[in-house]
Amino acid sequence: MTETSHQEMIPISSLNALEYCPRKFYYQVVQGETQVNEFVLEGALAHQRIHQPGMQVVDGEVQITGLYLCSETLRLTGFADVIEQRAGMLIPVEYKRGKQGQWLNDQVQLCAQALCLEERQSGKPPIAYGYIYYIGSRQRVQVQLTPQLRTKTKAAIVQALHVAALETPPPPLVGKLAARCPNCSLVSLCLPEEVRLLQMQKSK
Ligand code: SF4
Repeated sequence: MTETSHQEMIPISSLNALEYCPRKFYYQVVQGETQVNEFVLEGALAHQRIHQPGMQVVDGEVQITGLYLCSETLRLTGFADVIEQRAGMLIPVEYKRGKQGQWLNDQVQLCAQALCLEERQSGKPPIAYGYIYYIGSRQRVQVQLTPQLRTKTKAAIVQALHVAALETPPPPLVGKLAARCPNCSLVSLCLPEEVRLLQMQKSK
């Protein structure tokens, strides 16, 4: 299987889908499939304001919204919801609907934004942390950009480029991970139960 990706740049936000499920990532990034369920709609509405590019001063701090980010080295492109400027340091803030989940998909997305920002600021110290603001619970969670999270994020980028190069979508999630399927916006397209059943019948 070739490791060369036809996808030149990976959208930063798609790393979130990849961490959730590589098959979902494939549908969205390679095949351009999106389907709107209640969670997707809620998220889109919540992002409407912060995706407007602009700059404002809030409580003496500069906030930049909708900033375009790009890294040729990492092959990433996308937008940051909010960048806060503190003591000369740029701090990414990602807005999410609902409340904090059990998986690291949001943290990986935030870390990828920080990696892109750092590439533009060579000579400056690494960004130590960022924030995820969960709109549903109104919780602002500080995320430490640890070496472990950075390694996980870089591994996710490599996996994203690999999955993007596949000829067909990867198989549906199995085991405990399949618990994610009922809330997936692409469940009616993916048909995970049916595909798993077919795969089981084939392997008999
Ligand atoms: S339904 Fe499940 S296997 Fe299919 S794309 Fe969604 S999370 Fe992945």
